[in-house]
Amino acid sequence: MGNIILTGDRPTGRLHIGHYVGSLKERVALQNKGDYDTFYVMIADAQALTDNAENPEKVRNSVIEVMLDYLAVGLDPAKVTFFIQSSVKALPELTAYYMNFVPYSRVVRNPTVKSEIKTKDFGRSVPIGFINYPVSQAADITAFKANLVPVGEDQEPMLEQTREIVRTFNRIYKAEVLKECKAILPDNKACLRLPGTDGNEKMSKSIGNCIYLADDAATIKKKVNSIVTFPREIEAPGILDGNVLFIYLDAFCVDDDFKKFYPEFENLAALKEAYAKGGIGDGRIKQFLFEVLDAELEPIRERRAELAKNPEKLMEILKEGTKKANLAADQTLTEVKQAMGINYFGA
Ligand code: ATP
Ligand code: MG
Repeated sequence: MGNIILTGDRPTGRLHIGHYVGSLKERVALQNKGDYDTFYVMIADAQALTDNAENPEKVRNSVIEVMLDYLAVGLDPAKVTFFIQSSVKALPELTAYYMNFVPYSRVVRNPTVKSEIKTKDFGRSVPIGFINYPVSQAADITAFKANLVPVGEDQEPMLEQTREIVRTFNRIYKAEVLKECKAILPDNKACLRLPGTDGNEKMSKSIGNCIYLADDAATIKKKVNSIVTFPREIEAPGILDGNVLFIYLDAFCVDDDFKKFYPEFENLAALKEAYAKGGIGDGRIKQFLFEVLDAELEPIRERRAELAKNPEKLMEILKEGTKKANLAADQTLTEVKQAMGINYFGA
């Protein structure tokens, strides 16, 4: 069997430039390389409900927004199977069986879940569904026998949890039904976990510190200008370490951008050297960063606006993809139940 790729996003808002450099760009490259049998992209609405149960409209409305972002960045429905998590019935059933393999102490130790709990307003009432979402994510991945999962760095603990479940299941039931998966992370370090415009270590829809793929030029400019930098006299040496402007430039700019927008320098290394010496104000860096971002996002924004004229077509793509996803997940569920010996009536 060839590669099966699966990845997805929570429909909790529009996608942002962290998603773009952390995962979407890699997906488009993988799609175009073509080295796979099936490439699934899941809209994780059931997972989004684990911390948005009181705000289902946000989740529902974001489904189309996320689809628009997908197609706008170049994911192609002729090559990728898009589906909606909550419409694949085998997933919660697989989750229920997998929950028996995961000690309570293990789920509460998951570092991504722990840090997400801190940023949310759960108070003392963390929903069981939320704590359990890494287990349900294991169901999402294994239901499709995915071996490659292009994600940002924050998803690594989820994949580790998935591998543990796969090994435990195959050992207990003496089966080879479930397949182990590995993450495909961006090579560029700045893209692993892009920080927010507020300096938070992660740009995240739920924190609201994002530059969205759909933002217009004026909004991007405003957001870039709002980034807080280290106060200093213009002649004083610039600080590069932890400087969000330069992290964004690391993630986005290429040598060609200097020819177009900042011809005094040949590349980012030369600009960094000069900035560290002093004499370059943050206003100039913000101007350059804005131009770099806007040049990359403008065609995406235009394609997005065009696609938004026909939302029915997007729902049609999702409906077709969800049908295909159900067939694959049902097949795995059948194999899982056979291995467990709970296929009482044949299937
Ligand atoms: P939420 O706040 O609702 O969790 P999110 O912004 O974290 O939203 P997700 O839908 O959880 O987005 O993540 C989708 C994918 O994008 C995952 O693979 C995740 O690793 C990646 N990703 C999210 N934020 C970033 C970021 N700031 N930098 C790099 N990758 C990211
Ligand atoms: Mg997230």
